[in-house]
Amino acid sequence: MNIISDIIVQQSNINEAIHQLFDAVDAISVQGYDEQRCVVYWNMGSEALYGYSESDALGKRLEDLIIPKPMQAFVIAAHADWVSKGVVIPAAELTLRHKNGLDVQVFSSHVMFTNQFNKKEMYCIDINLAEVKRAQDEAVFKHNMLSAVLEATPDAFFLMKEDGTVVEHYENNSKESYVFSSEFIGDNICSLLPNTVTHKLLACIQKAVKSGRVIHFEYDLDSPDGKKYFEARVSRLVSHHKVVIIVRDITEQHQSAELIRQHAYFDMLTLLPNRFLSLDRLSALLSEAEKNNVQAAILFLDLDDFKKVNDSLGHEVGDKLLIESAKRLHQSIDTPDMIGRLGGDEFMVLLSGLDSVQKSSTCAKKLLDVFREPFLIDDRTFILTVSIGIAVYPDNGLCVSEVLRSADAAMYEAKSLGRNTYSFFTKKMHLAMLRRFDIEEQMQTALENNEFEVFYQPKFNAHSHQVIGAEALLRWHNPVLGNVTPDEFIPIAEHTGLIVPIGQFVITQALAFLTCWEEVHACSYAMAVNVSPRQFRDVELINFIKAALKKSKVPPEKLEFEITEGVLMIGQSYIDDALSDIHDIGINLAMDDFGTGYSSLSYLRQYAFDVLKIDRSFINGITENTEDVDLVKATIAMAHSLGLTVVAEGVETKDQLTLLDELNCDLVQGYYFSKALRGDDLLEWPFK
Ligand code: C2E
Ligand code: CA
Ligand code: CA
Repeated sequence: MNIISDIIVQQSNINEAIHQLFDAVDAISVQGYDEQRCVVYWNMGSEALYGYSESDALGKRLEDLIIPKPMQAFVIAAHADWVSKGVVIPAAELTLRHKNGLDVQVFSSHVMFTNQFNKKEMYCIDINLAEVKRAQDEAVFKHNMLSAVLEATPDAFFLMKEDGTVVEHYENNSKESYVFSSEFIGDNICSLLPNTVTHKLLACIQKAVKSGRVIHFEYDLDSPDGKKYFEARVSRLVSHHKVVIIVRDITEQHQSAELIRQHAYFDMLTLLPNRFLSLDRLSALLSEAEKNNVQAAILFLDLDDFKKVNDSLGHEVGDKLLIESAKRLHQSIDTPDMIGRLGGDEFMVLLSGLDSVQKSSTCAKKLLDVFREPFLIDDRTFILTVSIGIAVYPDNGLCVSEVLRSADAAMYEAKSLGRNTYSFFTKKMHLAMLRRFDIEEQMQTALENNEFEVFYQPKFNAHSHQVIGAEALLRWHNPVLGNVTPDEFIPIAEHTGLIVPIGQFVITQALAFLTCWEEVHACSYAMAVNVSPRQFRDVELINFIKAALKKSKVPPEKLEFEITEGVLMIGQSYIDDALSDIHDIGINLAMDDFGTGYSSLSYLRQYAFDVLKIDRSFINGITENTEDVDLVKATIAMAHSLGLTVVAEGVETKDQLTLLDELNCDLVQGYYFSKALRGDDLLEWPFK
């Protein structure tokens, strides 16, 4: 406006040049009025601002054109005062009126000339304020909005120079930041934060300024109530040489993410890496070893007889033993992140580097020592040893599953060596493992392909030599593997659980054969069937037996189940329940392989056994070895005192048979009379 006032020089005559000047300016409205306030000049800018064309306006009065009603009297008076008394109308912001009746915001300046006829002419120079007003309103709105946003946000807000000097800071009161409690506008942020954080911050400011993108980073600070985590987002303020930084407290997210991570990767009982993370680390170890062309080793640890402890003393004690075991591992291994819990009572330790093999035996010895210390749990002392299997990469496997399997096999070897020791994976184990896989694989379809057949080994009265019944013994002929002995495939079937359907098959076959045999010979016989521990875990076992007896119409007392002591040693209540159910049905129970295991008399008393079978390893030596005779003699006497029938198995010679008869053994079974025979062959036995 000042420029315009300067341009318009007070003079007595208005020359055409000035009119021409205004004619060309259409951004500014210039109107000229005579002493009666009639329009004498109206430029393009006036038409644009008020809507009246020059021809509309010329000759019309000021107040009739653009002055709103309430202002008209005032304007007329002010104009009159200026014309007659020289009272200048000052420049002002006014709200005038458009041709269409709407308000027009203007900044209006006025000058008064005296023309060549000595008449006064007033010129009004009006600038449209609509844009300015809008911009002002918007600025106010934006300011209010920013305040509201900052008020509502939990984040802290900083405006900084690019060197980190704080220009403005806003932080919601409800969310107190202990770091920025004092007034620090004008300070450099670097003097307020630890070095590690300021390095990151300045680097991010540089990056944000350079790239024009929002750059964010996380940092943590120690606070009186523990570590706090923050996320800072840095954004440059284009062409102001400043940056805006929003800082958010992400401690809670951090904590929950950490918790999730803990649950996903760590075992909550021992706090060791869980199976998932352990195998991940093993995988990383193998890749590293491959890259560097070095060896790596895994020690696979399994606590000895842990299941027994857990079952007999309860899970609480079991848990404490596991925690203590993990602690001992931690204390004896220098690289704690190389320890893991693979599940149950299985742990692993990973070793890396050129001398892995040597290190692993040193490490295994150390671990065995550490576990030899008795465990003190709830004022009770426990001995809990460990068996360790060691597998080495790349010799014993190239991938995680291979290496792990080898270590597992080596661990089983350590167990079979009497536990509380360690074993390296060997070639022999490798072959055994391959054989095991073959058997497992072939066995999957063996039942449906009718590859199993039940053979029967007759049993005799030791004195009269009369057949009294038979023991059902399973045979497997597989087209790929040929004949596989039960000693080999039964343990595998037990392990995979296939023993359950296979065992049902044996019972069904044995009962069917018994019926047939009795019919053909018109005799009464008994049938003994071997039952594995794993079969007792089958909740359907009892129902199955009842149904099988019903279907075959065999009276239960003609059926006998042979179980080994191993079954009883598992010490689980489901076994006790199944045994008493079997006894209640009326089926006889025989303790098999007596003399080989713990041979605990207490089991014989505790459970309702009817029969005791002396293991063939003792029968073998009775005619040569007096110790064996004494043992067998004592066993028979003891069994008889408990009311049990005694069976001697593995009788191969006439001398053995005679001696057993002299020792009062009730029944015998063995190659001296017959091997296990095909059902059809037994029907024709004794061969004429
Ligand atoms: P076991 O119950 O001790 O069975 C007796 C084993 O001794 C049988 O071996 C039998 O053939 C063998 N035998 C019999 N008489 C003589 C003899 O005079 N001299 C010698 N040296 N051996 C003799 P087999 O049939 O190889 O069975 C081995 C083991 O497999 C059995 O030992 C039993 O524990 C298991 N088994 C066999 N069939 C089944 C079954 O259907 N179910 C279950 N769960 N286990 C079975
Ligand atoms: Ca048997
Ligand atoms: Ca036996």
